[in-house]
Amino acid sequence: MNRLVYLVHAVLLAAFAFAASAKEAEPRLLLKEIAPGVFAHEGLIELTTQANEGAIANIGFIVGDDAVAVIDTGGSVREGRRLAAAIAGVTNKPIRYVVNTHVHPDHLFGNAAFDSPGVTFVGHANLPRALAARGAFYLSSFRRLLGEELIDEVRIIPPTLTVDDETVLDLGNRELVLKAWPPAHTDCDLTVLDKKTGTLFSGDLVFMRHVPIVDGSVLGFLRLADALAAIPAKHVVPGHGPLVANWPQALEAERTYLSHLVKDLRGMIKAGEGLGTAAQKAGQSERAKWQLFDDYNPRNATAGFAELEWE
Ligand SMILES: [Zn+2]
Repeated sequence: MNRLVYLVHAVLLAAFAFAASAKEAEPRLLLKEIAPGVFAHEGLIELTTQANEGAIANIGFIVGDDAVAVIDTGGSVREGRRLAAAIAGVTNKPIRYVVNTHVHPDHLFGNAAFDSPGVTFVGHANLPRALAARGAFYLSSFRRLLGEELIDEVRIIPPTLTVDDETVLDLGNRELVLKAWPPAHTDCDLTVLDKKTGTLFSGDLVFMRHVPIVDGSVLGFLRLADALAAIPAKHVVPGHGPLVANWPQALEAERTYLSHLVKDLRGMIKAGEGLGTAAQKAGQSERAKWQLFDDYNPRNATAGFAELEWE
């Protein structure tokens, strides 16, 4: 009898060990070294689904002489673990910072994979408020999109180091310039510039191929293009789209889309058209240029209409 108990125990322990090692042996995320010491993973241009596990945003990390900074953690803790595994495959330097470029789940649902002593989460000064306002809603609405298994391990982790205007992080002979922007894509957009290589991680202030999403201010987003263009970068990792693109040319398609949207909305408001017509028609001349256009343009037009109506 004792022997049987022992056997059952041993089998259970083995099962636990297997489960634990399966968890640790998460496959590494596919990475590209886009500049010396700067790595990124290209997300799919898709909506979040159980099949893609929310891995739809571009995420990456930068390695200094002393430490590593992660820039966005992906759309699930699983993706975050895969990023962590990929980092471990490149360097044994410690991860000191996890920078979240904004509040959207595809950029920060992987945070829990990096939550350990010695890691500081960094974000826009408005990010804690945005997470407090939306975190619970994101967890419940993404339960259906991601499925139980993936959503159950997601935790909302607000930044403890916040950026009001500009902050420089030093990874050891490698300075990152973090800049907080006024409302545009969201009200908590943060960019990261690696001074050493002129690589800009723009978060969702730059969309390529994937239609831009307006969740902050359409006018703010459009006006920001000039300020962004002045960033002394050589190339950019957009929030969505091809991993590296020349700077500031990468902004042009987005700027054209936003200016058409604003122009159409102003014309419709002036002509006394209603919100329904605006949602259907504004920005449609841009349709052929963008992926996921029908998923987001009507929402952008609706939000933009409400914003511009009171100009
Ligand atoms: Zn976003």
